[in-house]
Amino acid sequence: MKFYAWRYDDPDGSGIELTPREGPPPMLANDTPWVFLYAIEAATPEEANAIHSLRQGFGPYKPMGEPAECPECGAYYYPDGSGVCWRGHGSDPAQEDAGEDPPAGNP
Ligand SMILES: [Zn+2]
Repeated sequence: MKFYAWRYDDPDGSGIELTPREGPPPMLANDTPWVFLYAIEAATPEEANAIHSLRQGFGPYKPMGEPAECPECGAYYYPDGSGVCWRGHGSDPAQEDAGEDPPAGNP
């Protein structure tokens, strides 16, 4: 998975956004100035956020929730975070081309 870091400056303040989208995140107005910072290749969003935190001086990244063993392969993953193990099992709605059917959810 590839992740993209963008810095934005708008009248309400500046910020940095890490997104799996190739273009600037659509959350702000179209005239918000964005600056592309870098791309990160990582197996999971948690790995990308860990690298991003180091590069930005944010300190160690703490994934959401506790790690658990992937039911398919036993690798650690974060079910309360991305739900994706580093071998690619699990769901990530931002990665629609993952090539696997999403796990059964609520009907
Ligand atoms: Zn797995």
